[in-house]
Amino acid sequence: MKIVDVKVDTIHYRSNKTRDSEGHGHPGPEHDATQTLLTIVTDEGAEGYFFGGNKQIIESMVKPLLIGQDPFYHEKIWHMLKERQRLALDRLSDKVLCAVDCALWDLKGRYLNQPIYKLLGATRTKVPAYASTMCGDDLEGGLNTPEAYAEFALQCKARGYTAFKLHTWQPPYSADPKRDVAACAAVREAVGPDMALMIDPFHYYTRHQALYLGRELEKLDFYWMEEPMDEHSMSSYIWLADQLDLAIVGPETAEGKMFTRAEWIMHHACDMSRVGVGDVGGLTPMMKVVHLAESFNMQVESHGSGIANLQALCAMAIPGQYHERGLLHPFIDYDVPPPWLNTLEDPMDDEGFVHISDLPGMGQDINWDYIKANLV
Ligand code: MG
Repeated sequence: MKIVDVKVDTIHYRSNKTRDSEGHGHPGPEHDATQTLLTIVTDEGAEGYFFGGNKQIIESMVKPLLIGQDPFYHEKIWHMLKERQRLALDRLSDKVLCAVDCALWDLKGRYLNQPIYKLLGATRTKVPAYASTMCGDDLEGGLNTPEAYAEFALQCKARGYTAFKLHTWQPPYSADPKRDVAACAAVREAVGPDMALMIDPFHYYTRHQALYLGRELEKLDFYWMEEPMDEHSMSSYIWLADQLDLAIVGPETAEGKMFTRAEWIMHHACDMSRVGVGDVGGLTPMMKVVHLAESFNMQVESHGSGIANLQALCAMAIPGQYHERGLLHPFIDYDVPPPWLNTLEDPMDDEGFVHISDLPGMGQDINWDYIKANLV
């Protein structure tokens, strides 16, 4: 089987989310937006899909490399793209590698008529989810005060979530460790002792701000803290993790794929590793991190709500504790699928478990009628 075409379609939809000046998502007025769909086509008619991917980069830089390749050689293809990044990092990002790699996995699953988690070696079909909030804001009724987070945590608990993660305030809203602690304390007070709680605060606190936050969160029996400092300084995380019992989860956004995760584990910079397909360039490198962490008896917590991460979560020997579900906000109804899907890719039951799709490939139930009617 050979790849004969690689294309990216652009799809129009209406969005009720906006991004602030720092790039974080918030609810906003409904507006026109676009999504992309990467399609990899073979000479046998088998196709693989992934929502996302930069049309210009994929068609100009990736397509010439993929044409004529056997799509089942996706390890070889991933390495080819990774090596090509060295002199093209400004264009060929890990997000592009992720789109290509996930589309190849989708193609393989569809061709073999099996969901990916079974091709990887399945361990389970459902995973507990945590409610992952959007970042703090200044919206009345939104996430604008510690009390607002507490109120929203109670709503999530009533929906069935057994765990809740606060993304607290970041610029352009003022980041402040004391205000973070106040929000975390209000949430703990509201939900009681049994709900697992986590935090993902401002990513550029100083060492002492991060240590202060960590020590306060230990008093509130938090489960983990993510990325309170710039992850490029691994020594800052070694310094922090050494002083806290609170689990440090990372790295998340630091470049370097599985290599960075290996360094962090080896140097005791984290207590749990962290990986999502979008952070490291696809499912192929994500599984390398999963097996790396397993070799150190360490759990990996998955970053991001996409179905590719859920496929990996259902194929871990040392299970990641939670699927990240979100981002959630009092003004957003997460349980409505995006218009390009017929059904949610991470449906959650009343006990807080998300269930993996048994459709072949990535498992998305794609709404082809919507896509055909809304091509740009
Ligand atoms: Mg995070």
